[in-house]
Order: sequence, then C-alpha cells, then structure tokens
Amino acid sequence: MMLASAAKTRATILLCSDSEGKPLTGYTIRQAWIANETGYDTVDVQIEGDRIANIATQIDPVGMLIDGRDKLLLPGFVNAHTHSSELWQRGMIPPYPLELWLAELYDFVPADPEQVYLSAIGTAVETLLSGGTTVVDHLTIMPGQEIETIGAAVKGYREVGIRAFVAPLIQDQSLPSSLPTGGKAQVYEPYARTAQETLEMMREAIAQFHRPNEGIYIVMAPTGPQLCSDELFLGCNELSDRHGLCRHTHLLESKAQKLLAEEKYGCTAVEHLKRIEFLGPRTSLAHCVWLNDHDIQLLATTQSTVVHNPLSNLRLGSGIAPILKYRQAGVNVTFGCDGSASNDSQDLLEAIKIGSILHNVTDFDYRSWITPRQAVTMASLGGATGLGMQDQIGSLEVGKLADLVLYDLTSLSLLPRTDPIGLLVLGRPVQAVHSAWVGGRRVIAEGSITTVDVNHLRQELFARSQWDLNR
Ligand SMILES: [Zn+2]
Repeated sequence: MMLASAAKTRATILLCSDSEGKPLTGYTIRQAWIANETGYDTVDVQIEGDRIANIATQIDPVGMLIDGRDKLLLPGFVNAHTHSSELWQRGMIPPYPLELWLAELYDFVPADPEQVYLSAIGTAVETLLSGGTTVVDHLTIMPGQEIETIGAAVKGYREVGIRAFVAPLIQDQSLPSSLPTGGKAQVYEPYARTAQETLEMMREAIAQFHRPNEGIYIVMAPTGPQLCSDELFLGCNELSDRHGLCRHTHLLESKAQKLLAEEKYGCTAVEHLKRIEFLGPRTSLAHCVWLNDHDIQLLATTQSTVVHNPLSNLRLGSGIAPILKYRQAGVNVTFGCDGSASNDSQDLLEAIKIGSILHNVTDFDYRSWITPRQAVTMASLGGATGLGMQDQIGSLEVGKLADLVLYDLTSLSLLPRTDPIGLLVLGRPVQAVHSAWVGGRRVIAEGSITTVDVNHLRQELFARSQWDLNR
C-alpha cells in the first residue's frame, strides 16, 4: 500500500528562476528569528540541495521563498529512543512497573509487516510535528520475519522522509532470565535465536538497508545487559566497528536491572559495558536511571550519551534519572519519547519539557536547573552527538545538512510575544510547526506533512484496531 503525496505547498511560496528562466532548486527562508548566544537575530537562510548554503542578514533568493517573519528557525530535534510498533498499544497497559508492564507488552506482537510500516509512519509524523527531524527506532522485530519487519519500518521512514536510525531490538536470552534471583540457582530455556544467528540476521539487515547517504542508518542495538550475552555484545561491537554503525542499548532502567547486573557480572552494568568496550562516542544509552557516581564518570570518560526518557520513567515508576549529575560530569544528554506503550505519545516537545523541569525537584540549587535554551541544545546537538552526527546536523551552520524546523510564533499556544524558546519549551505548543526540512527536502509545509497522506494513515489505524472497553 502506498500513502500518496498529499498536501501541496501553498500561497506564500514563490518559485524563482535563474537568468535563463530555469527553475532553481532550494529554498530561501526570509527574515526568520534564530537564536544567538543570549537573544535572537533576524536572518535569511538559504537551503541548496541537502545543505544549509548560507545564513546572512540578507541573501539574494534562490529557489522557493519562505516567509520567515514571526517564525523561529531551529535545528531539528532527535527523538533518540522509541519503539515504533508500540504505537498499536498506546493507552492500553495499566499503570504497572517495568517488569509487569513488559509481561503485558509481550502479549502483543504486530501481526504483519504492514502494521510495522504504519506504526513507523505514525511515529515519524508525530515526531516531525513536534520538532523532531531524526528518530532512533529500537525496533521490535517479528520472529521469523526479522528482515521483513526492518524493511517495513525502513519503507515507512523513507516515505515520510524523516532521518531514521533503525535499531533492531536483538537479544539472545529469554525474558525470565532478566529478573534478579536473589542468589537462587536458576535454569532458563534457551532463547529462540542464538547470538550467531542474530548477528547473521544483522549482517543481512546492514547489507540491505544501511544507506547513510539516503538518511537510513542501521544501528547495533542489543536490548540490554539483562537479556544479552557478552557474545552478542561483542559481535555488535565488531559489526559496528566494521561498518561505522552507532550502538544503542537500554541501560539500568529499573532497580531490578541494577540488582541483576550485580548478580550477573559481579560489578555494575556500566563497569561491565566498559570492560567489554561497548561504550564510546557513538554509543547512546536509554534511561540510565540507576547509576552510581563511578558509573557516571565512566560515561563521561568514554563520551557515551544518555538518552533521557522522562515520561516513560514516570509512567513505569522506574525512577528519576540523575540528569543534572550527568551534565555536571560532562556527560552528553539528549531526549527520547520511548515507545508509545510506556509514554503513549510521540510528542517530543512534551518529553523535552518534562525532561528538563523534572529535575528541579531533585536538586534545589536552581543554578544547575536546565534552561529552555539548554534543553533545545540537548535535543538537537546533543542528539546529533549521540549518533556521531554532530558535524552533520544539530545546529544552524553553513555546510551542515538542512534538517530544520520553522515554528509559527503567531500560533495561539506561542502567544503573546514573550521569549520564543522559553514558550516553546515551557509552554504547550499546539500545531506550532509551520515547516520542516530533512536533508533539504521539505516534509512539512504550512503545518501539514507533504510526503504522506495523514488522513489515510488515520483511517488505517482506525480500521486495524478495536476499542477495548472491558479490560
Ligand atoms: Zn525502550
């Protein structure tokens, strides 16, 4: 099924041509607000091909003209941890802690790759409409249809046009082994797929789908130390080194995982991941709630990135990650929505808001509290850094890829005219994204997704689900 191209760009856009009357490709955004060190400047920004070609007070226009007046231009954010297929379960699982929640979650596996394709599209659309231009999808894969699952998500992301880091969720140990035993000897069923079979599947996925120049990246992403052997982690290291892939995993989301790591390794999970050399500048770690001060130092020295998922941590009662300590130790931190079964939305601005103000209750020294401008930098450049992309995306700089979002400051939720970034982060922006570009391709125009038919997506999600009124 194809989601046909829908909304066409409208009135405010003029197409320019060169002296021979040939249309020019690209965009010139005129007179938009951008942030400087402490305030704002008004500038023209020129996009040529997939890059930012110029930023200046005034530019001779090239390509389509976009009226940037009363609009704020920011680098796109990164939704740095999610599980797209959980979209089918949002609003469904009762308020349970992680381990009980997982048991409910595993009751449902997407029935066919078409569902995976649709939930990837839904995740991408909601991420884009809340300021994200990149998504990291720790993708649940259907047993026996692993490559088809990955292919379905990749197809969805390509159609929407979001930059997508597709991180198949791999493990080689069974769910019961992820719980601490309190010292009792246990024997577990072997997992359905061995480490070597899993790595072979990943080799195939890399060969078929890893296309950095087209905005699709495969990531080596073991589920977490609680469900993976060292053999699997080491195989992931090897493939990541060989193909230049990012690494991603869940890390110490719950207290049970902290206890399990100590039983399993005789040290903390972070010490173990350091020892087996999984940590590094292209490694991002979801959650990081239960780390001690020495662990935090290890994340700093290895230049690993913490992905803060505040809404899922709150919903599952996992705890409050010590984000201010990470920042004080020099650890790079960015934000994720986490899957829609543990947050129930993919609103990245909501995750950024809660993720930055949550810590005001854990540390009363307000001088270390996260400011709206710091939150924006964490969500953009911080996200890019965790993916080894800080030279390519994450800030407004000539030569970088044009992954940009233009916010309409006349939107009711961003009025009255106070501080644009303050209100964007601390307010509750509704329909505030006017335009977005990913690699120079305009994927939102006048508030509407340009690449896929969102009404059709709504119809599909409606038709393929049922109200569940008697749980
Ligand atoms: Zn997760």
